[in-house]
Amino acid sequence: GAALREGAWVQRLYIVPEWRRRGYGTFLLRRVCRAGPRGLWARAENGAAQAFLRQCGFQGAGPVLCRGVRAAADNAVACAHAFVRAHLVPGGFAVDATAGNGHDTVFLCHAVGPQGRVLALDIQQKAVDATNMRLQKMGLAQIGRAIKADHAGLADIFEKEGRPCAVMFNLGYLPGGSHAVFTTPQHSLPALDAAWRALLPGGALTVCAYSGGMQGTAERDAVLAWAGALRGQGCKVAVHLFRHEAGQPPIAVCLLKEMRPAP
Ligand code: SAM
Repeated sequence: GAALREGAWVQRLYIVPEWRRRGYGTFLLRRVCRAGPRGLWARAENGAAQAFLRQCGFQGAGPVLCRGVRAAADNAVACAHAFVRAHLVPGGFAVDATAGNGHDTVFLCHAVGPQGRVLALDIQQKAVDATNMRLQKMGLAQIGRAIKADHAGLADIFEKEGRPCAVMFNLGYLPGGSHAVFTTPQHSLPALDAAWRALLPGGALTVCAYSGGMQGTAERDAVLAWAGALRGQGCKVAVHLFRHEAGQPPIAVCLLKEMRPAP
């Protein structure tokens, strides 16, 4: 993989059977796709393959995608992903504090790579099952797993599992699920506190916060107040708004734990 350079030609990628289903094929394929020159075209027949190519810098909406400039981080989720990708250490331990349908968990699995570990939490069994199924389908079950747990208990989880290099929160309700179950500051604020304290120096913490309705707006404001209070505590905080979107689009709050301890 390390020998691949821009312009290198890979004719066939073959994973011997005993190394299959451990994430190595995905890892190598990503290296190959990213090494491809700008303007390279690829055909992907299903949504998962198209999503994979987009993560590798390919653009396009149909089955034919072109490797162009990296897609702009023009929404909260893309922005959080770009931030984590920029700071995450491959081989590390990362946590998705709101598993939902597993898209962020899959992103984290690709980012930590086959030597890494990802733990995803959700209070809904439906979300846990959807995430584990997605990981299984994408051959990432050796790297990531989802469990039914409340992120308010993250402190205990870090005690058992170790310190993370990245933690992601994507607040709100489960897309395609019940709108009656959503994240609340009573749970997400203690979870953010625990995540920030456990985060390794140099680590990234992101929150995508929805602004819709009373609940979403109240939680967004609580997160902004929480992040603002970290000023001067070895923390870099960036808040991204997406004014080009109609209504009240989600915001991305990106925190970086500085390498040096706070004075
Ligand atoms: N990251 C997800 C994805 O990529 O599909 C989307 C997350 S969705 C917007 C928010 C999720 O948070 C829902 O599935 C919901 O069940 C979950 N949730 C709500 N309260 C929670 C809590 N206290 N602890 C853990 N998860 C919670």
